[in-house]
Amino acid sequence: MSDALPCLVQVAVSTPAHSAVGDLLSYACAAPLAPGTLVRVPLGAREVLGVVWDAPAEPLPLPAGMAPRPVAGVLEGIAPLDAAWRRLVAFTARYYQRALGEVALAALPPQLRELTPEQLARRMRRPAVGAAAQARESATESVALSAEQAIAAAEIESNPGPFLLFGSTGSGKTEVYMHCVARALAASPAAQALVMVPEINLTPQLEARFRARFAPLYGEVAVVSLHSGMTNPQRLKSWLAAHQGVARIVLGTRMAVFASLPGLALVVADEEHDASYKQQEGARYSARDLAVWRAREQGAKVILGSATPSLESWHASSPEVGRYQRLAMPARIGAGELPRLRLVDMGQQPRGAVFSPPLLAAITERVERGEQCLVLLNRRGFAPVLHCHDCGWKSDCPHCSAHQVFHKIDRTLRCHHCGYAQRVPRACPACGNPDIAPVGRGTEQLEEQLAALLRNVITPGRRAARVARMDADTTRAKGALEEQLAQVHAGEVDVLVGTQMVAKGHDFRRITLVAAVQPDGALFSSDFRAPERLFALLMQAAGRAGRDAQYVAAQASPPEMWLQTWHPDHAVYAALRRHDYPAFAQQQLAERREAGMPPFAYQALVRADARTQEAAQAFLQAAADAARAAQLPGLEQVFIFPPVPLTVQRVANVERAQMLLESPGRGALQRFLAAWQPLLHAERARHRALVRWLVDVDPQAI
Ligand code: ADP
Ligand code: ZN
Ligand code: ZN
Repeated sequence: MSDALPCLVQVAVSTPAHSAVGDLLSYACAAPLAPGTLVRVPLGAREVLGVVWDAPAEPLPLPAGMAPRPVAGVLEGIAPLDAAWRRLVAFTARYYQRALGEVALAALPPQLRELTPEQLARRMRRPAVGAAAQARESATESVALSAEQAIAAAEIESNPGPFLLFGSTGSGKTEVYMHCVARALAASPAAQALVMVPEINLTPQLEARFRARFAPLYGEVAVVSLHSGMTNPQRLKSWLAAHQGVARIVLGTRMAVFASLPGLALVVADEEHDASYKQQEGARYSARDLAVWRAREQGAKVILGSATPSLESWHASSPEVGRYQRLAMPARIGAGELPRLRLVDMGQQPRGAVFSPPLLAAITERVERGEQCLVLLNRRGFAPVLHCHDCGWKSDCPHCSAHQVFHKIDRTLRCHHCGYAQRVPRACPACGNPDIAPVGRGTEQLEEQLAALLRNVITPGRRAARVARMDADTTRAKGALEEQLAQVHAGEVDVLVGTQMVAKGHDFRRITLVAAVQPDGALFSSDFRAPERLFALLMQAAGRAGRDAQYVAAQASPPEMWLQTWHPDHAVYAALRRHDYPAFAQQQLAERREAGMPPFAYQALVRADARTQEAAQAFLQAAADAARAAQLPGLEQVFIFPPVPLTVQRVANVERAQMLLESPGRGALQRFLAAWQPLLHAERARHRALVRWLVDVDPQAI
């Protein structure tokens, strides 16, 4: 039948993981199809979405006697994905060592995969709300930029970048982004901007600000969001709007970096240091790094913004390297002060106190004056473990090498690694002792204790102090996050207890005190990035205090950041006390240079999951041996460390091991990884106990 079809196309499809078929497949069709065309094609017994990739120079070889199967249908009405988008996908697949089709299909909205061409055509016929029909009389006034903002904006206007906007928390970075977006959009009617934030919970605030500014100018449809918190139909709608150029501004999380944006003129990655820009499944891409690559490819400008840049970006913007242009905005808007750091030496405090007396007094005082406080603890649940003091039993997860966390609110023990949950036992399952007790604390307990401690505290509005909690548990329901944030903004909450989720990005106006009650854990982590992450988190948290200079000026005391610590002399805290990111970065970079670690070296991890730890490590060892035996290109510059178990070694009954690769050159590492792929596939076939393996290029957590 297909002999009758004269044309051949190569189509990227998503084949089962690590399939031997490859994922550019030949199909037959009646007439030539442009690269980038979305098609439906048969794959095995199914029919799947595919992207026409190349006009083939010659047909891909097929087993003797097999003719290419015909393309089943074309998604009419959707313009082909442009060459820039296809280059981005191809680069991502190559760089992060994944299959092209997998990356291409994962980059498209899920619903596109499910709809038939007919269903899609119906959807496309629905009239889009015209920009003119929603346009209001006058555009919202944009604020006049401060001197620092104006200088940064002018530099961005007149230089190619990439730019690292190093601006204190509350220095008005978002205003600079909006200014640059406005300029970019005004320059051409087809121009589009992509603005990314690391976390879903920052998107409502971002969208509100951009909508208020740009919807009056370009219509409501011109501003769309793309993140995983949206329903599939919403995502498809945003995606189509961006692809068709109707959407001029796309706001989103890391996935938005793959949006089809034919008119892309500006990319912003806010809080560029944030580890959430790194995808942790499938192709483990860094949306921040891809943003820089994509912008260069597509001739767009790119701004990376942060008060605590990643050491990679800081180094890239140093005079010594000069790859990025660094723009500094040290001052807070309205000459607001950064909060003063107060270190509480827990060695000097009453034993066992969660809240030291001076911190509790400070919180009480602020609440009595009607100010808000933020209390940070990076662990959700009530307590990290239940313990029997008689026999030593602990609430271990039966499936993981981790404890089950005690959640008091629904009396469950839950594993935060595999999700396994069970009811709290009435007595010790090992010895029957009824007196099993929580050890350590999480946000749930903190909220409860603080509410009890503040129960007699009265606000100026003559109501009892209110403590609320915000973490992954309280924000799971749809709309819960927005509702809780609105309560904080409306002043209905006096003390907000939360995980790192509340520390980042939010423009709280009346918080004047931020406290980290147990920050020390990260000081002694084995991960070399732990100090960098802790410093960034605490700086970010501090940045939530005293954001409204006028409000602060009217209060009795300046904003404060409190840290309860057993190590008040630690260098990380000393740098934090001076709000001195550059000094901290310089010291960290000196250590990294000395030790030959990123950004002075490039890393990749190979992870193996297996039924037993021995099997996982045996696969890694065999893969390393095979690479050495084959003398793969790049190997002379790649150091392969021995396989080791992961910190949490067993999750959901699977044993996990990893092997670190390090090289002074990105190119050598890339050459090596590409040559290694077929060997890894071959090894995999020999190791039956292996569950899966994966490569993580530029890993964030070692
Ligand atoms: P950042 O993103 O650096 O934390 P924002 O852009 O959120 O800072 O600015 C902090 C606050 O200051 C916001 O409420 C913002 O509206 C306000 N702001 C920013 N720039 C200006 C300006 N030029 N004039 C007046 N207010 C400003
Ligand atoms: Zn017991
Ligand atoms: Zn578990």
